Amino acid sequence: MTIHVFNGFTCNARPPSRLKTGLVCTLVETAQGLVLIDTGPGTEDYAHPHGMLRLFKIITDMPLDLQEAAVHQVRKLGFQPEDVRHIVLTHMHFDHCGGLPDFPLAKVHVHRMEYDAFMGPWRRWTDMAYIRRHIAHAPDWAVYNDSGDKWYDFDAIRLPFDPEMWLVPLYGHTRGHCGVAVKLEHGWFFNAADAGAVYNNETPAWLIKLVLGPHDQRLRRFRSNYPEIHLVNSHMPPEWFTVPHNEY
Ligand SMILES: [Zn+2]
Repeated sequence: MTIHVFNGFTCNARPPSRLKTGLVCTLVETAQGLVLIDTGPGTEDYAHPHGMLRLFKIITDMPLDLQEAAVHQVRKLGFQPEDVRHIVLTHMHFDHCGGLPDFPLAKVHVHRMEYDAFMGPWRRWTDMAYIRRHIAHAPDWAVYNDSGDKWYDFDAIRLPFDPEMWLVPLYGHTRGHCGVAVKLEHGWFFNAADAGAVYNNETPAWLIKLVLGPHDQRLRRFRSNYPEIHLVNSHMPPEWFTVPHNEY
């Protein structure tokens, strides 16, 4: 079983900040077929950018390179888009789920609270990052409630895949935001998504707490306590997405 990792969306800050980010998209070969964790923006977002993407185009420095769309990167890895049977979402902001319409047959797995937050009513400004048209094709949903299970000492929900995969609620960035942990032969790949800025020491703690939620310090401790866990956030530096981080 192989885990392929690719950058599904480059989005860089404008100077004077030097912060450059890609978006971690993960394609997992499982006994249940290919599972894609987060999609990045989709082809329609590149062809006809929605308002949030147009806004981000102004406030950030984005190449908006169509070749970054997950559907193209899945092909580049030697698969067909129809081979992607399942999509797991950390949350439903446009930069994480805009590619859903490019995989119309995939079953979409998401936490119940995130699904409800997307459907509205919207309660805070970050809910503007939910774009209705990303689910206009009426995907086949698998929606999860908290189950009382644990992955390490995190509350977690077992996903129906082999190798073992867990949805790990890390609420705050959005109401139903989750990380996703995938079992490796030795250890785990754990995408804590937008719940922290573990690899970015430029952002002040108050801003992390405001935008990413309360988990950053706990994730940093977790990462240093368990070296067998490959912990990543969604927005890693573009140069990170190369050997050895592109495959696990
Ligand atoms: Zn987000």
